[in-house]
Amino acid sequence: MSKAWLAAFFISLGVSAAAEPDFKSLGQRALALSQDYIRINSVNPPADTRATAAFLQKLLESEGIQVKTFESSPGHLNVLARLPGKQPGKRLLMLNHMDVVPADASRWPMDPFAAQIKDGMLYGRGAIDMKTTGIFQVLTLIALKKEGLVPEHDILLLCSADEESGGDQGAQWMIAHHWPEIECEYALDEGGFGTRDLLSAKGSLIFGVSVAEKKIVWARLIATGTSGHASQPVADNANDRLREGLNRLDGMMRKDGGVKSRLLDDFHKRAGALADNKFTRAIQRDTLSITSLRSGVGDPPKVNVIPSKAEATLDFRLMPETDLPAFLKRAQKLLADIPGLTFEVTHSTDPTPVSDYRTPLFECIEKAVHQEHAQAVVTPYLVPFGTDSNGLRQKGVKAYGLGTAVVDAAIVASMHSDAERMPVDQFEPALRIYYRAVADFARRP
Ligand SMILES: [Zn+2]
Repeated sequence: MSKAWLAAFFISLGVSAAAEPDFKSLGQRALALSQDYIRINSVNPPADTRATAAFLQKLLESEGIQVKTFESSPGHLNVLARLPGKQPGKRLLMLNHMDVVPADASRWPMDPFAAQIKDGMLYGRGAIDMKTTGIFQVLTLIALKKEGLVPEHDILLLCSADEESGGDQGAQWMIAHHWPEIECEYALDEGGFGTRDLLSAKGSLIFGVSVAEKKIVWARLIATGTSGHASQPVADNANDRLREGLNRLDGMMRKDGGVKSRLLDDFHKRAGALADNKFTRAIQRDTLSITSLRSGVGDPPKVNVIPSKAEATLDFRLMPETDLPAFLKRAQKLLADIPGLTFEVTHSTDPTPVSDYRTPLFECIEKAVHQEHAQAVVTPYLVPFGTDSNGLRQKGVKAYGLGTAVVDAAIVASMHSDAERMPVDQFEPALRIYYRAVADFARRP
């Protein structure tokens, strides 16, 4: 459809076609800026975000956008930009984190901070998680301003420090110390993907928009027993007790099966038959990963010595609907008759609310995706890992994890890996979806 024809079509309908940015050049700019941004090392720890903050602040201010910075502790800078609306009140917060996880350069195919392009892929730490999305958000704000679109209510952009260590110096710190600055009704954050093979069994294009995340519960299982010469087995071997405890917990996790939830029902309804992989399995049930086993006497442990202590660390990830106290009670009861065994929770996240997805913003996202990919399914879902969104959801914000690029499962898995990458041909369409979703929402009263 030609532009002139499209304009005539809208005029005949009595609506004026909204002017849109030149997405081709905007997409090219997004790629170039993402490269510059990846080249600024913001590895966490230490999550020194002074240089990334200066880079984004300069970029935004050069386009006439108001920026404030907040230093949570030395070196940890958070950048807050604002596009003022016609009416008071803040409606939408775009949230991204500037820090990245470390990269072992010796294991990468190329320098993780060189942002090189090879075989149609931009390689670099932060390519998926989440510097490119950060640039999409920054350019969306800049493009809205350039197009002269004054939103009904303020639109905010927070580029945070420290997400990869839990956000204590980043988004969670902003929520705790500067809530009035960022208080909003909706947020767009990380946690979504457009993908053909990660979610769908049939290869259908599905955009999962995350509206919830799993609860993290870390625990320790400690067994004690009688030490001695391994030539004479004892009935109270700490290793046997630990093994028995782990077997029982594993059995409980398998037996518990899936969790009933409206979110999962809606996800299944929209997404259809799901691909079977570790990601889809993890988002449908409570899970347990045994992450360490420690035992033995001496280093390396002596083979002929029975130790008096054995220990395991356990990483449980629970569905938002799972009742934590009841779950822990069940685990304790299951282990109660094993002598010398203690089960202790060392860390658990706060409640993990599910954001409502029958909302105008979710509609805008669906519409923008369909404009780009007519056949795509857009569905709410949840992510198995933690994001900054959970802190916002606890404040009542409807927070969505949105990723607008189409990526395959291998690219999603490259997050935190030794070959993190983003397809170069996705910059333009991904930015178009991001801009359109936000622009549409910005116009709504
Ligand atoms: Zn991230």
